[in-house]
Amino acid sequence: MRRIQLLSPRLANQIAAGEVVERPASVVKELLENSIDAGATRIDVEVENGGVRLIRIRDNGSGIPKDDMALSLSRHATSKISALEDLESVASLGFRGEALASISSVSRLTLTSNHEGQDSGWKVFAEGRDMETISSPAPHPIGTTVEVRDLFFNTPARRKFLRTEKTEFGHLEEVVKRLALSHYDVAFTLRHNQRTIHQLRPAKTRVEMERRVATLTNPQLMDNAVVIDMESESSNLRLWGWVGLPTFSRAQTDLQYFYVNGRMVKDRLIAHAVRQAYRDVLYHGRHPAFVLYLELDPAQVDVNVHPTKHEIRFRDGRTVHNFLFSTLNRTLASVRPEDQMPPTA
Ligand code: ADP
Ligand code: MG
Repeated sequence: MRRIQLLSPRLANQIAAGEVVERPASVVKELLENSIDAGATRIDVEVENGGVRLIRIRDNGSGIPKDDMALSLSRHATSKISALEDLESVASLGFRGEALASISSVSRLTLTSNHEGQDSGWKVFAEGRDMETISSPAPHPIGTTVEVRDLFFNTPARRKFLRTEKTEFGHLEEVVKRLALSHYDVAFTLRHNQRTIHQLRPAKTRVEMERRVATLTNPQLMDNAVVIDMESESSNLRLWGWVGLPTFSRAQTDLQYFYVNGRMVKDRLIAHAVRQAYRDVLYHGRHPAFVLYLELDPAQVDVNVHPTKHEIRFRDGRTVHNFLFSTLNRTLASVRPEDQMPPTA
């Protein structure tokens, strides 16, 4: 038997990274969530080689105070919660304080940031097995840039699971789309290998929002969807967005976007309620298209279910299910009959 010893900070972070950093797309998700949590209204994403060689995300958010920068790279360091009660009603996308530490343990990460009231920006990165931080002044407008180079260069087992540049970029682009579809007031750009892939201005009016949805999902969706916006005062739930007509059904589940309090989620209860609502108006094996937002009191949702935060748990699942089902069902029942019936084959 070998003696017990404490893992080095880098190794501990690399183990934790196994849970959240699967591929370039997961890095982009974590970094975009940070930018949004920092109140950014403009986020520029630049990647090379599907994100494997480079991911650079620049935002105009609050920035990080100089004295907090080194700490932000260490594990369990977060400005978003400080007590267990905070975890009971998290409104931010992040709260685990792990992303920067995890990512920087499996890549070459540099953080550059400037915070209001400082003379200049600062740059910091972590080095060696103890992940000691090295910082120096660096010009930067108020806001933050995170640069991630050579993802998994030191974790060959992970690197082996990476797919082609095209596939990795596809996943990454999907993450950008999904976040752009839940933060309409934020301008996004996405560049890949020096080419502009998306350039999205902030969308304020409904027309602008619909244009963004059409650009990011399917140009036909807006002509084949009904707008929905329902609130249940008794249970404090609101569902809004666009519900695809049954005639616009799909062979795949590729046009399904569901958000809970601005967070993209995969949830069985939600999937079930939606499926039930469409059941009588869709052919077997066909899938509806929708872009939907459920809003409720953050205290009614547990987001601390899984490190990737894709899963959630509702405190009162039955009420949520009933509300979703009945709202969608009523909406579908009210559309014109010729749109409602599956076309006869
Ligand atoms: P979490 O988001 O769970 O708090 P992270 O490791 O992702 O943990 O980030 C650690 C901390 O670094 C955040 O709590 C925040 O204070 C700061 N931070 C990270 N990215 C940004 C950013 N883009 N703008 C401002 N602050 C940031
Ligand atoms: Mg985070």
